[in-house]
Amino acid sequence: MLATNGYTAALVERFQGSIVPLRGQVAMLRAGGAMPAEGLATTYSFIYDGGYEYMISRPRGSTCEGDVIMGGGLAKAADGGTSEYGTTDDTAVNETVSAYLRGTARRYFGDNWGADDPEGTIRREWTGIMGYTPDGRPFVGEMPGDPGLWVCCAFAGHGMVSSWVCARAVVEMMQGRDGPGLRAWFPDCFRLREERLRKKFRGRPHAVASQIDESNGAAQGQGGDESPAPTPPFIS
Ligand SMILES: Cc1cc2nc3c(=O)[nH]c(=O)nc-3n(C[C@H](O)[C@H](O)[C@H](O)COP(=O)(O)OP(=O)(O)OC[C@H]3O[C@@H](n4cnc5c(N)ncnc54)[C@H](O)[C@@H]3O)c2cc1C
Repeated sequence: MLATNGYTAALVERFQGSIVPLRGQVAMLRAGGAMPAEGLATTYSFIYDGGYEYMISRPRGSTCEGDVIMGGGLAKAADGGTSEYGTTDDTAVNETVSAYLRGTARRYFGDNWGADDPEGTIRREWTGIMGYTPDGRPFVGEMPGDPGLWVCCAFAGHGMVSSWVCARAVVEMMQGRDGPGLRAWFPDCFRLREERLRKKFRGRPHAVASQIDESNGAAQGQGGDESPAPTPPFIS
């Protein structure tokens, strides 16, 4: 069983170009003086042309209660972010993205952010490796032409949600219970098939939306455009 997400193409050559690692970056920000000490009750996404940020507050009663966990900034990395594709090095952060993430909360919350914490805005920052496929969907099932090699990976940055049900599905397949019961709830488009392996990564689908209106920070109308982000340099 390969549950190696963005690392999988390093282990099985047939996934080269079908599972592309993408380094994602997150900063833990000490909340500004005007932000609620107990944190914000909801999560946020800030979507703009070519990219987005996403955030959640550390909840009441947790360590660093009220801190803002801000992820994203990919589009600010070199070459519109293509520099973060193809790397599996999560021991380092991208300094350009780091500088950008440091200022995001003030940019999005404006006066509601308040004075920066005297100990500095960034408490901690880190990166992690995601796995992207050409159609943005995971690969789940037995490797075509390689019986006994099972795969459950490449969750395109959404594995906290989808990896559990995918794991359940692949176990049912391995146990020979791949019947109407499984097909009734498991998305067919997640299944690992030869024709999906023939497609090569051309950028992240769904990563385009309308500009954010800087004056009020609100997104204006969702583009819903399917055109992918710029093609990474290592995809010929
Ligand atoms: C910055 C960031 C933000 C994210 N935000 C969200 C979010 O808001 N919501 C959401 O749903 N998901 C989010 N994700 C995605 C989520 O973290 C992943 O989808 C999820 O972790 C996938 O779980 P996994 O076990 O399949 O793979 P991973 O957690 O990637 O684990 C794969 C494991 O395989 C190991 N491995 C690799 N090669 C080998 C080898 N040769 N031998 C042995 N082990 C190996 C690796 O060390 C790693 O531990 C985010 C990811 C990142 C990086």
